[in-house]
Amino acid sequence: MLADYAVRVENSRGRRHPEPPHPYRNDFQRDRDRVVHARAFRRLEAKTQVFTRRYSDHFRNRLTHTIEVAQISRTIAAQLGLNTDLAEALALVHDLGHPPFGHSGEKALDTAMRQHGFSFDHNLHALKHSHDYTAGQHPELDEYVLDQRPPLEAQLIDLTDEIAYNTADLDDGYEARLLTVEQIADGVDLFKRHFRLAKNKYPHVAEKLVFNEALKSILDGFVGDLITNTTQRVKAAGAHSLDDVRRHKERLAAFSPSVEEERRGLKDFLYENLYYSPALAGEKEDAERITGELFAHWMEEPDDLPRNYREKSAQEPLPRVICDYIAGMTDPFIYQQYEKYTICVIIPRNFIRPCRV
Ligand code: MG
Repeated sequence: MLADYAVRVENSRGRRHPEPPHPYRNDFQRDRDRVVHARAFRRLEAKTQVFTRRYSDHFRNRLTHTIEVAQISRTIAAQLGLNTDLAEALALVHDLGHPPFGHSGEKALDTAMRQHGFSFDHNLHALKHSHDYTAGQHPELDEYVLDQRPPLEAQLIDLTDEIAYNTADLDDGYEARLLTVEQIADGVDLFKRHFRLAKNKYPHVAEKLVFNEALKSILDGFVGDLITNTTQRVKAAGAHSLDDVRRHKERLAAFSPSVEEERRGLKDFLYENLYYSPALAGEKEDAERITGELFAHWMEEPDDLPRNYREKSAQEPLPRVICDYIAGMTDPFIYQQYEKYTICVIIPRNFIRPCRV
C-alpha cells in the first residue's frame, strides 16, 4: 500500500507527448520499460565504472551498477511505502548521462567545460541544463519545480547510488588487487568492524569469502539505516503528503548522522586510495587527454560533429552540444573517435601508443 506522501501515478503531470493509456501498464511502468529498451541504456554496458585499462569479467560496468541501484531502490521504496515503479524507473535512468571513463571521465569533461565557462556533473546532466539556466530565464524548466524538493522516490536515488558504488568499488578495487583487506580495515572503521564480525563467524574460510560477507553486511546496514532514519525524519517533519515532502526545508531521505559520517569516510577512502591513486593515474591522464583533445577538436571543427549535433548547435552553446555528445559515448566509441580525429593509436583495453609522426 502506498504511503500518503508517495507519488501516485494518477497525479503525475501526464505525458509530454499524449498517448492512449496502455491496457495493463501504468505510466510509470511504461517509463521504466522505455528506459530498459532505450539505446542509451544499452550503451551503459560499455561504459566503465572505475577501471578503463584493466579488464575483468567480474568488474561492474555502468549497466550492472545501474541494476544494483535499481534493486536497492526497489527494496527501500517498498519498505517506505513509496511508488516502486517510479523509484525503479528513476534508478534505471540515473546514470544515462554518465560519460565514458567513469569518475575520470566526469572530471575530464568538467575540466573541458570549465575552459568555456560551463561545468559538467552527470547528475545535473540528467536534468539537462539546470546548472546553467534558471527556470525564470527558461520557462520550459518550470515543470521540474526547481524551487522545491524532489519526491522521496527521487531523493532516494542519490543515496542508493552511493550505497551501490561505495560497496561495489571496494569489491572491484580488491578484486583488481589495488586494495588489500588490511589497507581497507586501516582506513575504514566501518569495514574493520564488519570484517571482524564476518571473520569471527566464518573463521576457516578464504579471505575473499569473509570479505564478501563483510561487504554484504555493510550494504545491508546502509539500507536498514536509510529506511529507519527516513521513516523517522518523515514522522518528525509531520509530512503527510507529497506536497509536505516537496515543501520541507531539507531532504527527508537521509542516513542517520553516525552512518552519514561512515558513508563519507568510506567515500573519502575510495577517492584517496582508489579513484585518485597513483595506480590509476595513467587511466585518469588518458581520460583527460582523450576528452580534452576531442573537445578542442570539435570546438575548432564543429562540421566534424554528426548532423543532429550540428543542428543542435544552432539553439545551444557549442560547448554544451559537444559535452552532450561526449557524455553519451561509450569507452570503445570515444577511443574510436580519438583515433579518427587525432594522430594517436589506441591499443584496445590498454595504453595510448605515442602519437605517430
Ligand atoms: Mg550511479
